[in-house]
Amino acid sequence: MKMKVKTQVIGMEPYKPGKPMEEVKQELGLSDVHKLASNENPYGPSPAVAEAAAEAVRSPEIYPDGYAAEIRSAVARHLDVNPSQLIFGAGSDEVILMLCRALLTPETNTVMASPTFSQYKHNAVVEGAEIREVPLKNGYHDLPAMLEQVDADTRIIWVCNPNNPTGTYTSKEEFETFLKQVPSDVLVVSDEAYIEYVTAPDYPDTLSLMNEYPNLMVLRTFSKAYGLASLRIGYGAGSTELVQALDPIRPPFNTTTMAQKAAAAALNDQEYVESCRKENRKALDEFIAFCHSHGLSYLPSQTNFLLIDTGIPGDKMFDSLLKKGFIVRSGESLGFPESIRVTAGTKEQNQLFLQALEESLNENNTLSEK
Ligand SMILES: *Cc1c(COP(=O)(O)O)cnc(C)c1O
Repeated sequence: MKMKVKTQVIGMEPYKPGKPMEEVKQELGLSDVHKLASNENPYGPSPAVAEAAAEAVRSPEIYPDGYAAEIRSAVARHLDVNPSQLIFGAGSDEVILMLCRALLTPETNTVMASPTFSQYKHNAVVEGAEIREVPLKNGYHDLPAMLEQVDADTRIIWVCNPNNPTGTYTSKEEFETFLKQVPSDVLVVSDEAYIEYVTAPDYPDTLSLMNEYPNLMVLRTFSKAYGLASLRIGYGAGSTELVQALDPIRPPFNTTTMAQKAAAAALNDQEYVESCRKENRKALDEFIAFCHSHGLSYLPSQTNFLLIDTGIPGDKMFDSLLKKGFIVRSGESLGFPESIRVTAGTKEQNQLFLQALEESLNENNTLSEK
């Protein structure tokens, strides 16, 4: 190609999503396919969402409210923050993009764990910033080691809590000790995409730290427990000054009317979220019981997925499970080559999945003995 794309973008791979269900059905001629790959809510959103979305679809010719006033005030009330402390994105992915665009340049660096959510690095690479990756320690963020990577050119430190793809979390004490030591001109991002699923009592209350730390931004999303992944809406909560600095980066109509209305309806039904949290915990407990009875190790999860070490190459297990109608994530692209990452499904799906996993383990173990 003759056109001069930014050097750092040349050779970059686009995001690889979980395999779409329809594609798998066609390729393998399966009628029943279960996608347990992208940490979506298997129960879907609150029943209240359908009506709100239907209302929004009636006037597609009208631009959305760029300020997102209705969902803004609903979220502000829910979190007990000022509406001026919120910035909405087409998923929290877009807030990550805006943060990188606003803060990172080729002269700067950004610190993150490894493995962690891929979009921090991806967007930082686009901006030409130096990436400083700090290996997880026994599957957990190593915050003291991350602090050691901070210098005068550091602009953003990413804490994915709980972490994707491990499901592990950083405790309140660890996080607060860390935050105290971060220079006040370095932004700390706490990505809390799975907070609705967290049950650990010592998980940090980052919102309560926001007044004391204007360099803290919390990311949340409606894509996971709220069940709105396809509508694309998430947000960042931080100091008003930070939000004001980011706002010029935000595309003018980045969240749709349907997403805004659906999110407001979903947020309003906390009872539903609570029931999903409970079902999810039961599902994880079943997965964990299976791991124990089959001698598999896993990382303790505060999310709606489990990273299971099967001792078999991840891509092989992926293929084997795919043939049985289950889409999971191979750990090979996630930094855990002998693991699979499985999203908790419905009760019925989980039962079927564990049967399929048992069969796949038997098949692959017998094969490798030959
Ligand atoms: C899913 C996910 C997101 C982004 O989800 P959106 O759909 O863009 O809101 C952000 N961070 C983590 C860790 C995730 O797993």
